[in-house]
Amino acid sequence: MNQKNKCPQCCKEPALIDKVYGILPGKNCQESNAKVSRPKMGVEFTSDNVRSERKEYGKSILQPYIGGKLSKEYIEEYGTSALANVSKRDIREAQYVYKDELNSHNLHKSKGGKI
Ligand SMILES: [Zn+2]
Repeated sequence: MNQKNKCPQCCKEPALIDKVYGILPGKNCQESNAKVSRPKMGVEFTSDNVRSERKEYGKSILQPYIGGKLSKEYIEEYGTSALANVSKRDIREAQYVYKDELNSHNLHKSKGGKI
């Protein structure tokens, strides 16, 4: 008897009957619909925050040379304009010297991280 009053969306819960609109999705579906249509601001804000924190962290410890090796992370972050005596050969042979210490995807995703 109540068959036709089931939620049209999931058919598992009672529909909500509205005097104007008639049969509407049930409470559960209405709630999940509301969640889906809500802007994703919160999520994106959070991940942006994490990303910029991570980047700030990375920047604060990046040094151009580690153990005599030119840091590829440094070059990717700052470029070479601040490095007065760096040669093209140095740049070509630069290595990802931070990759073991800094487990950041931002820093060595671009070229595979290996030479
Ligand atoms: Zn439903």
